[in-house]
Amino acid sequence: MTTTTATRRKRRKRDDATANNTLDDAASSEGGDDAPRNVERIELGGRSIDAWYFSPFPEPYADAAVLFFCDFCLRYFSSRRAAHAHRSVCEVRCPPGDEIYRTPEFSIFMIEGKGTASRKTYCQNLCLLSKLFLDHKTLCYDVEPFTFFVLVDGDGQLIGYFSKERDHTSLSLACITTLPPYQGRGYGGLLVDLSYVIARRRIAAAYRDGREDDVDAIDGGSPERPLSDLGELQFRSYWVHTLTRALLALAGGGSIDGKTAATDREAQRRCSVLDVVRATGIRSGDVVLTLKRLGLVRADATASARRAHEVVTDVSALAAWVRANARDVRRVDESKLTLPSAA
Ligand SMILES: [Zn+2]
Repeated sequence: MTTTTATRRKRRKRDDATANNTLDDAASSEGGDDAPRNVERIELGGRSIDAWYFSPFPEPYADAAVLFFCDFCLRYFSSRRAAHAHRSVCEVRCPPGDEIYRTPEFSIFMIEGKGTASRKTYCQNLCLLSKLFLDHKTLCYDVEPFTFFVLVDGDGQLIGYFSKERDHTSLSLACITTLPPYQGRGYGGLLVDLSYVIARRRIAAAYRDGREDDVDAIDGGSPERPLSDLGELQFRSYWVHTLTRALLALAGGGSIDGKTAATDREAQRRCSVLDVVRATGIRSGDVVLTLKRLGLVRADATASARRAHEVVTDVSALAAWVRANARDVRRVDESKLTLPSAA
């Protein structure tokens, strides 16, 4: 989270060279990703925040040196006076969706992009705002296929969000942003964790409904590629810490989702990639990739043969690694989560 802007720009060029073109058409119609930064900075939540990248704001806002945002409905203005006038009459005090998670420190709201006009506008404003800090292509106006999970602090100030394509089960996260003032404080990890909680619940429902043979239904979720540079760091870190913790639980008895393994030896033999997927919600391809990097997967444990193969090779070494690399990670307390079944 301490990457310099210059480095980010270099990485953007590198990422662009390797990016797939799934969103190219839509992105180019919204201004493209190679366009130079237009808005210099924004004012939001009593802060002045420098913009990092181009964002396709409509005229006459597209080239404003400063955009002034309403803290709550995210409407934007090119003058402080207009923003002030709006704030004095705006009655919005939280994101326009269902509050699905609350702690004394923050709340998470779930908003359907296809909802009312005001919800759609809010989601578009959110995407335009977040694109100022995202180095890869993203949609800003076609929000209807997406569900948005918006994190705000105790005063309703925006911290970050992620979006998820509603009808795409294998893509658990389309876009994620933590606003710069809040970066480095674990909020991105919390949002990533929520995306995998949602994936785990989908997998659990598939097993409950007897759909074990539906390989897509029981596989985990994965972020949409290409990831931004910060997103790549975010996910790699989350996968390493989550997978090692889950493996230890699966191999040693008692797992993170409450399942109880048998004896250590039996658990170790039974620990397949699919067991890990079920316990974490992480897609099998990402599980295998991460465990290969950690040297924790047998050579023949490929995604195509994921049912059969063991993952853990040395439980004591894994335990030592987890102890040595343990760090505090924000996680979703599932007992506090009130997620609609449709999510
Ligand atoms: Zn407002």
